[in-house]
Amino acid sequence: MSGQAHNDGIEVSFEVFPARTDTGRAALARLARRLARFKPEFISVTYGAGGSSRDLTEATIRALLAAAGIPVAAHLTAARASRADTMAAAERFVGMGVSRIVALRGDAEKGAPAFTPHPDGFANAAQLTAALRERWPDLPISVAAYPEVHPDSPSREADLDNLKAKFAAGATDAITQFFFDNRLFTDFLRDTKARGIAGSIIPGVMLIHDFAGVRQFAASCGASVPARLDAAFAGLRPKDGKEDRAVHDRLAAAIAARQTLDLAAAGVRRFHFYTMNKSAPAEAMCRILKPQI
Ligand SMILES: Cc1cc2nc3c(=O)[nH]c(=O)nc-3n(C[C@H](O)[C@H](O)[C@H](O)COP(=O)(O)OP(=O)(O)OC[C@H]3O[C@@H](n4cnc5c(N)ncnc54)[C@H](O)[C@@H]3O)c2cc1C
Repeated sequence: MSGQAHNDGIEVSFEVFPARTDTGRAALARLARRLARFKPEFISVTYGAGGSSRDLTEATIRALLAAAGIPVAAHLTAARASRADTMAAAERFVGMGVSRIVALRGDAEKGAPAFTPHPDGFANAAQLTAALRERWPDLPISVAAYPEVHPDSPSREADLDNLKAKFAAGATDAITQFFFDNRLFTDFLRDTKARGIAGSIIPGVMLIHDFAGVRQFAASCGASVPARLDAAFAGLRPKDGKEDRAVHDRLAAAIAARQTLDLAAAGVRRFHFYTMNKSAPAEAMCRILKPQI
């Protein structure tokens, strides 16, 4: 089978985090214009993650909508806000021209032992999804899924039931937390099917820009990092020197290419790339996956 036929029907989407400056937003608009040629399903902007303000999400969405060419999705979390405020944010996003919402609970307050909902807020992503679906019967709504189980979940079965509840509440599809071992994803797909979940599940593929940072983040969100990756990146200091940066980035690209092509060979047709706001790695992946464009 030729590479082209093999990759027929592949759809891509991208995730960025809000830019803090006009310069950063202009760079994201350029990223969107470069990636538009691959006809992505959407480009999504995270919300309040990593301490960023919600206004920055809105400003970044505006910049991406103005860049045109790619449908824009807004992440929306229920944490630390009343139901009315969360729904008002959704109204604003849809009013601006956002064509998909990624509905999330959000994380516990930094330093808090567990997530506590706002007294008037949505308790979880399923509740938020249900309210969004009631307001917009036809809006695509994505939710989060966890091949390695969400750290707050008492068990794999409970986590699968939670995902099932999010689909029952009206989710269109689910995007996974990043993972590096494809077996985790294929096992997860098998388990979701066994649990009666029929909705589309899109693998979230991390395009590593800073291995040390990814390692740290992985530990906080329950994603594992295989020893082979630790060994491959050992001793590289991409922030300290050009040579190390070049080797680090080529390694990262090789790892992402292998992961993605293996998933495509296993039949996966939708991919969501965590771009880390860098255009080149995402474009390189698209050129491998969609070489006909
Ligand atoms: C693709 C993706 C995008 C993300 N984007 C953002 C973002 O933009 N901003 C941000 O702040 N964070 C983001 N996150 C992180 C996310 O907010 C956290 O992982 C958060 O802790 C859980 O959100 P959720 O929507 O999965 O929650 P939920 O699906 O509500 O579930 C979280 C956990 O609570 C459990 N749970 C839920 N409801 C119940 C219940 N009724 N009883 C018992 N247990 C329950 C679930 O089993 C699960 O373990 C993203 C994650 C992913 C995978």
